[in-house]
Amino acid sequence: MKTRTKVVVIGGGIAGCSTLYHLTQEGWTDVVLVERNELTSGTTWHSAAQVTNFGMNQTMVGLKSHSIKLYQELAADPDYPINYHHGDGGIRLANTPEQMQGYRHFASMARGMGVDYEILDPEECARRHPLISTDRLLGGLWDGMDGDIDPAQLCQALARRARNAGAEVYRNTPVTALTQHKDDTWTVHTEHGDIDCDIVVNACGYRVNEVGAMMGVHHPVASMEHQYFLTEPIQAITDFGKRVPLLRCPIDDFYSRQEKQGLLVGFYEQDCKTWGMDGVDPNFVNALCPDDLERIMPVLENVFKRMPVLEEVGIHTVVNGPITYTIDGAPLVGPIPGKRNAYCIIGLRAGLGEGGGHGWLLAQQIVHGEACYDTWVIDPRRFTGHTNVELTALKAIEDYQNEFRFHFPHEHRPAGRPAKTTPLTPIMAAEGAEFTVVNGWERVDYIKPAPDFHPSLTFGFDEAFDIIGAEVRNVAENVGLAEVNGFNRIEITGTDRHAFLDRMFCGNVTKRDGRVGLGYLLNHHGCVKGEATVANLPASDRGPERIWYGSAAASEFHDMDWLTAHLNPDEDVQLRSLTNDQTILVLAGSKARTVLSECARGDWSAAAFPWLSVRECFIGFAPATVMGVSFSGELAYEIHIPNASLYAAYLALREAGNAHGMKLFGARAVDSMRMEKGFLHWKADLITEFDPLETGLSRFVKLDKGEFVGKDALLQRQANGPSKQFVPFKIDASHAPAHAGASLMQGEKVVGTVTSADWGHRLGMNLAYAFVDPQFARVGTILQLDMYGELVAAEVIAPSPYDPEFNRMRS
Ligand SMILES: Cc1cc2nc3c(=O)[nH]c(=O)nc-3n(C[C@H](O)[C@H](O)[C@H](O)COP(=O)(O)OP(=O)(O)OC[C@H]3O[C@@H](n4cnc5c(N)ncnc54)[C@H](O)[C@@H]3O)c2cc1C
Repeated sequence: MKTRTKVVVIGGGIAGCSTLYHLTQEGWTDVVLVERNELTSGTTWHSAAQVTNFGMNQTMVGLKSHSIKLYQELAADPDYPINYHHGDGGIRLANTPEQMQGYRHFASMARGMGVDYEILDPEECARRHPLISTDRLLGGLWDGMDGDIDPAQLCQALARRARNAGAEVYRNTPVTALTQHKDDTWTVHTEHGDIDCDIVVNACGYRVNEVGAMMGVHHPVASMEHQYFLTEPIQAITDFGKRVPLLRCPIDDFYSRQEKQGLLVGFYEQDCKTWGMDGVDPNFVNALCPDDLERIMPVLENVFKRMPVLEEVGIHTVVNGPITYTIDGAPLVGPIPGKRNAYCIIGLRAGLGEGGGHGWLLAQQIVHGEACYDTWVIDPRRFTGHTNVELTALKAIEDYQNEFRFHFPHEHRPAGRPAKTTPLTPIMAAEGAEFTVVNGWERVDYIKPAPDFHPSLTFGFDEAFDIIGAEVRNVAENVGLAEVNGFNRIEITGTDRHAFLDRMFCGNVTKRDGRVGLGYLLNHHGCVKGEATVANLPASDRGPERIWYGSAAASEFHDMDWLTAHLNPDEDVQLRSLTNDQTILVLAGSKARTVLSECARGDWSAAAFPWLSVRECFIGFAPATVMGVSFSGELAYEIHIPNASLYAAYLALREAGNAHGMKLFGARAVDSMRMEKGFLHWKADLITEFDPLETGLSRFVKLDKGEFVGKDALLQRQANGPSKQFVPFKIDASHAPAHAGASLMQGEKVVGTVTSADWGHRLGMNLAYAFVDPQFARVGTILQLDMYGELVAAEVIAPSPYDPEFNRMRS
């Protein structure tokens, strides 16, 4: 066994084997995999091992396509062929028009990744799958590349290729402890000795938290028991003459695929069970949980109706094994928050289908710092401090119960709520608030007209449309108040704070006391990593000279990691998170100044407190820090208040606002208004696949300002010219918005992808942002948007169509 290597991958299931192989593919061959037993002795060995191409966003579709391509290549390797049935196809069934609309949107999205899904009617579903009934069926989505693979052969093939490239695999070598050294390198302690290394990777399946504990972290991953059975041969399958396609059924909560001449049928029962919550038996190796067919009886009844042949056929094997879930169903693949040189590839619930792609994206992150796709949807830092073991289990159960039921836009499922609240949450609830969830925070979406108001789950405009419109109009004409909780806020102190941020931002962000600026952070590839406001606060009785760095709520762990990773040891800079201590009340609208002046002493005139100013003050008697910034395009103030005083400030603002028509507004109104202003959302419009020039942010880039992170790479990208260009569109439709991922077409060719979209209520315009091929970025260009299978005209418009001179927010 080596005593020193570059990377130690812990765990020899599909996650570990794929990571090891892809590290060698990225050029790192001094790497090892350490497995406590034999390869695939965790979940992988008993997997149903279906491989599908379906995903709900482009990153998932892209990584699954990679799996399929890789597995095809491995299967065709004459030196070590493996069993992989592919191209049998698969159907996802639906019984509501809304599900069908969702499938049509996912088909539009996947088109941009070169993947063609077909939309089928019930008769065509039955023609392609001879065993299903069309009862309660509206149609389905056909994924032509679906198939299944031998999981053990797959892992052996990956390990073999990795070994051939120079990697080493140590079986029967349990990792017993991890030590991190001052220089951020690690020692991996095993039963057979220690291995020093630069980087560790946790790929430990259902033992993820045993290894997590060795480095002092708890991952939001829980295991569920999951069962399938195998049937005796079925004559109708033999008669069909070719392999029957895979089936995924959200109507009846099951899946199936062909196994020999019979079927493998797996179930997602409502009465489901977590597993291993109090620890996993060390001897649970190549093992299964006891069969428990009782639990699936309620599901089975409907499954029999969907596939009547099952009533007549015998079951010869039952498999019940642990499968890992995260809080949102997607795995955790990337850097472990708060740790250096530590990565994970965990929480895989479809690890055979996805594992090839996840290992690929993780290896790229480890070797190059970033992957070819933006990986936020699988980034471990998308969950933050609230995601403890109990919450994870609740969300895992909910996700398991809804396995094939995708989330609709604006859908926030109830389990584990409310996780993060402020003193105002119950007040807002009493005001009739409908809440959305942002990084665990309950944030007001809009104010409901009645307690029993529940809009439909749809990809079209829902019944809240007019409510949002009214909230927007009241902001524009009078004044509105919104609570924006969970906003990420890092206080930066120390004499080198400006120099530090200067290195992190690609533009010149103001250093003047009392002023606020907006800046963009790039990664080492010159692409957009983050966006932050910087408020320079002078010394006061509330603290020394300091900067408040503010960014999206979801970026809490991400941004802290990125900033701390770039601190120089000799720099006088301290970072402190204030995210959980303070909340923002946004006061926006033409009468915002009047309201503020009536409840906060001081001169708030445009001359004394112009746009982009920051000042400490009191709202009534509640201490507050006010910034003159706007995401709505109206005159607006962000009022930052310690949570202890939040209610007092709220009462003072409400009282002052009463005479001026002040009403509450929520996140959906904000989204509509920011679309009209050309303001971007982090991880929707601002992604690591594009640089700031491509993203339309040239005015925030100063290439002549000296060194900053990503500068050299950005210069290189600039010389190469843009691969895509970010532009706003006006969509010629009024029944539904576009959605992220939808394809923009020129004839048969996909030439752009929507990043975000919404109705602009002030303009009466259906708006979308998209990255398009640069030749289609000119204002006035008309493309066709594939909107749920229909082609709709989409015209490139000038940025910031609402108040393009920015007069209102500066007024
Ligand atoms: C019944 C069932 C059906 C499924 N069907 C499908 C399907 O059809 N398609 C699909 O894509 N997915 C399916 N899955 C899910 C899929 O099998 C898993 O996502 C995948 O196998 C997880 O692989 P892994 O490598 O993350 O974990 P594992 O396979 O559990 O591997 C983790 C490895 O880490 C090792 N390890 C743990 N601790 C240590 C330590 N301290 N030191 C060294 N090594 C350690 C373990 O021994 C183990 O080998 C199914 C799962 C179940 C249970």
